[in-house]
Amino acid sequence: MAPADLPYLKTNPSVIFFTDFDGTITLEDSNDYLTDNLGFGQTKRRKLNINVLEKKTSFRDAFWQMLGSVKTPFSECVETLCKVMKLDPHFVEFYEWAKANNVPIVVLSSGMIPIIRALLEKLLGHKPDHIVIIANDVESRDGKHINTPGGWQIKYHDDSHFGHDKSLEIKPYAQLPHDERPTLLYAGDGVSDLSAAAETDLLFAKKGNDLVTFCEREGMPFTTFEDWSSILATSKDILSGKVSVKKVAQEGLEKEQKDEA
Ligand SMILES: [Mg+2]
Repeated sequence: MAPADLPYLKTNPSVIFFTDFDGTITLEDSNDYLTDNLGFGQTKRRKLNINVLEKKTSFRDAFWQMLGSVKTPFSECVETLCKVMKLDPHFVEFYEWAKANNVPIVVLSSGMIPIIRALLEKLLGHKPDHIVIIANDVESRDGKHINTPGGWQIKYHDDSHFGHDKSLEIKPYAQLPHDERPTLLYAGDGVSDLSAAAETDLLFAKKGNDLVTFCEREGMPFTTFEDWSSILATSKDILSGKVSVKKVAQEGLEKEQKDEA
């Protein structure tokens, strides 16, 4: 794609912020909640997760089975999640700052667009007009209406074994010539964020997570975060040029190694 056609370059930003949704903006995983409480339950979900880790099942197939076990009408699933899911309240401040400072926010998720949109709307108190959501969708199952029992299924974003390969969206930006390329930042909490984060300049990795161990092992530039207030503070410094992403990553690694010692 020519640079002029890349949608997040339209406003000529100097920073683009890509982020995971579940466990990063929300405090728990909304798909796990659906499977555990409205589908076949946690024991079966954990078994499938282990199969994925042991490469006996693809993430795509396992996730399909988990969500397929949820027969609750889709509208009721959204309603329930809006009631029970907790989101990071500091994300609101980050959102306002990003909007005021021409920093596009792109949510890259393995979840479903209507759920993500509803949860963001609830958190922000209005429609999320400064966020692009790239995720899976939902569609009719067996010709039924999605808001009837057993009436919906997940519609995957692409053909990858993840269902949604998050790195696809970032690659065209990562490949831009150096002088045309904005700084690319990424926030995530799971190992599935690694391939996407590898395309960016700096990963904000949720503290106390497997992801941190992976980053250290792979030599990926990262810094840890506990909530979006620290992501905001660091993003402000990067945008203003007060610190370089390199320096943030170096300090992030040193801090993590000190915490471990
Ligand atoms: Mg996540």
